Amino acid sequence: MLEIINLKTQFPSPDGLVNAVDSADLQIEDNERLGLIGETGCGKTVLGMSIIRLLPPSTRIHGQIIYKGRDLLNLKEEEMRLLRGKEISMILQNPTTSLNPVLKIGDQIAEVIQLHKDCNRKEAKTKAVEILAAAMIPEAPKRADQYPHELSGGMKERVMIVMGLASQPSFVIADEPTKGLDSGTKAEIIRLIRDMTSGRSMLMITHDLAAAGEICDRIAVMYAGELLEMASAKTILHDPQHPYTQGFINSLPSRGLLPISGSSPSLIDPPHGCRFHPRCPWAMDICRREHPQIIKLEKGHFSRCFLCA
Ligand code: SF4
Repeated sequence: MLEIINLKTQFPSPDGLVNAVDSADLQIEDNERLGLIGETGCGKTVLGMSIIRLLPPSTRIHGQIIYKGRDLLNLKEEEMRLLRGKEISMILQNPTTSLNPVLKIGDQIAEVIQLHKDCNRKEAKTKAVEILAAAMIPEAPKRADQYPHELSGGMKERVMIVMGLASQPSFVIADEPTKGLDSGTKAEIIRLIRDMTSGRSMLMITHDLAAAGEICDRIAVMYAGELLEMASAKTILHDPQHPYTQGFINSLPSRGLLPISGSSPSLIDPPHGCRFHPRCPWAMDICRREHPQIIKLEKGHFSRCFLCA
């Protein structure tokens, strides 16, 4: 379905070039849901935005993003516009700022439907109500007639998911869909995403490893612009091999809430050698000198650490 080869996404800034995504390789199969996890600012949202090509014009992108045999980075903007929303769509984070505050929910969903389906306004609005009902939104006709500020946070997140899937895309990018939700609402959103993305391919960008574990087939772990570990969700949660993944898991409330010491490095001038070495409890001399390559440990499990070599 989608193959990312040696992707580098960089932004010029007054302090230097920001290497937001550095030499990323990733594949997502048909009907596969891949979770991309990491701390805030590690480059995961930029990787998602690189796929759908929603980045500032000053961005420098190198590498290949092959979707159904075509390199998205070589498509003209017009060709990309035809794919965006219809074939590849994005569930944006922060519904409060992403939804149009002066347009009723039903009209916003109908607009998405009309962009990609041959139907009139009335048919699109009827379809919008059907989709809201399918997303288990109670009183769907009434909700369709409301403005975003009349809905709760969880309801708005449901609407974002419905809008992202209204055009029935083959590939969905969901950016932090569970961020800021209380545990009850989060459980509902996880169920909804699982149900509504069944039979599609998805990249779920999140810092919520537990949510990724419940939704995704595989998980890739990102740190300071690089992919550090990739394996099945079960392996990442129960048998992680990279010290950063292990630290990330230990910082979960259910695993003792032990934070990783230190803070994320600069993406302009990351540490020499292994980028995680200033925070790694197992750092060796070689880790400060040499940059570890990502290696295959067993079928489908990859890690970027000298301890795994
Ligand atoms: Fe730690 Fe070295 Fe592995 Fe990096 S390469 S994660 S510093 S042990």
